[in-house]
Amino acid sequence: MAQLTASEVNVLNARFEGRPSLEGEPLAARFAADDVTALNARLEGRPPQEVLKWGLETFHPHIALASSFSVEDVTIIDMLVTLNPAARVFALDTGRLNEETYQVADAIRQRYGITIEFYFPDRAAVERLERAKGLFSFRESLANRHECCGIRKVEPLNRALSGLKAWITGLRREQSVTRTQVGYVELDAAHGNIAKLNPLAAWTSDQVSAYVRENKIPYNKLHDQGYPSIGCAPCTRAIKAGEHPRAGRWWWENPEHKECGLHVGKH
Ligand code: SF4
Repeated sequence: MAQLTASEVNVLNARFEGRPSLEGEPLAARFAADDVTALNARLEGRPPQEVLKWGLETFHPHIALASSFSVEDVTIIDMLVTLNPAARVFALDTGRLNEETYQVADAIRQRYGITIEFYFPDRAAVERLERAKGLFSFRESLANRHECCGIRKVEPLNRALSGLKAWITGLRREQSVTRTQVGYVELDAAHGNIAKLNPLAAWTSDQVSAYVRENKIPYNKLHDQGYPSIGCAPCTRAIKAGEHPRAGRWWWENPEHKECGLHVGKH
């Protein structure tokens, strides 16, 4: 399969030149659906590093990885920093993360010498929520759960994405019924039609684990305790043998509801 040519990258760069914020622009002016389809066709079957290389050449410094320090995210950080030590990484500190997540975040920060751009929820919104509904309102209804995720994840994510032209995620197609259609490059309609890169879309969990092992990358120790997918501490549990990898997230809900609002769209 042919790689992207320099002139194709230049054409894409020209589309984004001088557009620090994409908010409010018509879709066709930014990044046509045809571009995305052609890009995905060209990138299909290519290594994740090639997707990241294209993303960095096209968007840096207006591109960043959204990291929850999952095994996928630490894999991407290793690849990103190898390609460009100045590559940007942001993270949402919801205030309810596991200690092990904070530990791996700091281990990654030290190993790669990077600045992790942490975003914290709006203090007043958290105080209002906790005073009105207590500390575990998310267990009471889907609406309450979405309210908590909205305050602790979605609003900080929107702040993190403002000003970016592209973001990178560790989404993989095999992760859940809500993610089977994940593409390498997508137009993120929920976030002002910026580009969303999912370089590990086609990778299996075995491929990710092997990469982490071979490169001795720090990873969240909860993965060794039966947690394939890790979010906030009160909303994540270990899974039993044979259970779906996402079964430990919001385990009291139906599978089709298991997104926190960060990844809204066709998957
Ligand atoms: Fe709140 Fe749970 Fe969502 Fe974290 S995962 S923001 S604790 S509902």
